[in-house]
Amino acid sequence: MSMFKDIPVEVGVIYEGERIRRNDMQVELGGPTVKEKFELAKVLPMDAVEDGKITIIGPDLKDLKEGGAYPLGILVEAAGKTLDAGLEGVIERRIHGYLNYIEGFMHLNQRYDVWMRLGKKSFQKGMNSFEYIGKVLYRLFKSELPIIEKVQITFITDPAKISAMYPAAVADYEARDSKARGLKDSEVDTFYGCALCQSFAPSHVCVITPQRYSNCGAISWFDGKASASIDPKGPVFAIPRGEIINAEKGEFSGVNEAAKKRTMGEVTQVWLYTAFDHPHTSCGCFEAVTFYIPEVDGFGVVNRSFKGATVNGLPFSTIADSAAGGRQIDGFHGMSIEYMRSKKFFAADGGWNRVVWVPKEVKERVKEFIPADVVDKVATEEDATNIEALKTFLKAKNHPVVARWEAETAPAVETAAAEETVAAEGQMMPVMTAASLPIMAGGFKIILKDAKIYANKVIIKTVKDEKAK
Ligand code: SF4
Repeated sequence: MSMFKDIPVEVGVIYEGERIRRNDMQVELGGPTVKEKFELAKVLPMDAVEDGKITIIGPDLKDLKEGGAYPLGILVEAAGKTLDAGLEGVIERRIHGYLNYIEGFMHLNQRYDVWMRLGKKSFQKGMNSFEYIGKVLYRLFKSELPIIEKVQITFITDPAKISAMYPAAVADYEARDSKARGLKDSEVDTFYGCALCQSFAPSHVCVITPQRYSNCGAISWFDGKASASIDPKGPVFAIPRGEIINAEKGEFSGVNEAAKKRTMGEVTQVWLYTAFDHPHTSCGCFEAVTFYIPEVDGFGVVNRSFKGATVNGLPFSTIADSAAGGRQIDGFHGMSIEYMRSKKFFAADGGWNRVVWVPKEVKERVKEFIPADVVDKVATEEDATNIEALKTFLKAKNHPVVARWEAETAPAVETAAAEETVAAEGQMMPVMTAASLPIMAGGFKIILKDAKIYANKVIIKTVKDEKAK
């Protein structure tokens, strides 16, 4: 650790995955209560970067009131003879990993969604300036990515300056994403995997294909390729695609093998284009999460910045908790916004024909990628705030899921007869299946593998009902 002798706290991989609770935090930087925040990497010409320079624009950590939440922009400007703009996404994503090495510092999410916390204990040990954080980033960038010859880092806490820089940062993200559009999964023989989030979700591996962006929305297939080539021992690695086992569901032998190896056998089968049965695992820093709504046989989507309850009465945080942690949960799927622009977006489940509810902000962002005959049929919070209203809306608009309801109700007589037979035999119907189902009880985490839960009767109550008692 000699590299960090002049830093008041320790720096090392053992601090990755450390969570800082509200009561233990000195300050929050970015996060859900702050509208504009970002982290951005730029590659500049050699003479435009002053190696090791750390700049702070606005109040420093020691000047921020304890317990408050503040806007923050982090700008990493790098230069190197063989460095090009195609590596900006890779450099930027390393900020997440490196900052989490700092004792008592938590970094979540990415790009315009960043959320950081500095713990009180680390602050009291002297970690009271961005200067230290800059030094850690600087040294790790230089030692871990030798392709970077010079790097300068700027921290911005001045809200006016952040507002001025924010649109350009968002435009940069969009330019990166649009560059990665167009290539098809079937046109490449290598996908990429990322295990950076295993510190928070040990059985999670992102599978990044041309048509399936990483869950965090920060790594495209091109970024994966660049990252694996400049740092083959790093968190991003190549996955030879292997045989196509199921083209419709997106199952590839190479992906299954990589998932098995990288999750120590925890995940053995991954279907890339569906939210059912063996969906892609969800870590914790996904941009949005899809949730199945059984009442309408369709999907809702909610993104991290959506405030309040979704159409099923639950907020983002509750739905995200049901999916996160590196699990494969039937009907739940953490994902990037960019995946919603892909032709493979839940292609096996019907794609956009199966999506019934999306926050307005997200719908606006992906509108041009929603098929023209469905776009007006997908509800937002302005059209429906509960399931009954959603049903009415979908019916009025004749959303494609309505045809599924009709198809499902048609053989009702046969179904009733079949159910009677099952009941007569004293069997119960499965109400839930999951590859790995964790249950918290008495301070222990019990994991049921390949669980199928049967019940005579299922009672679903909303939290609101419970509280009202
Ligand atoms: S969400 Fe996926 S791609 Fe993004 S950092 Fe985590 S593991 Fe890597």
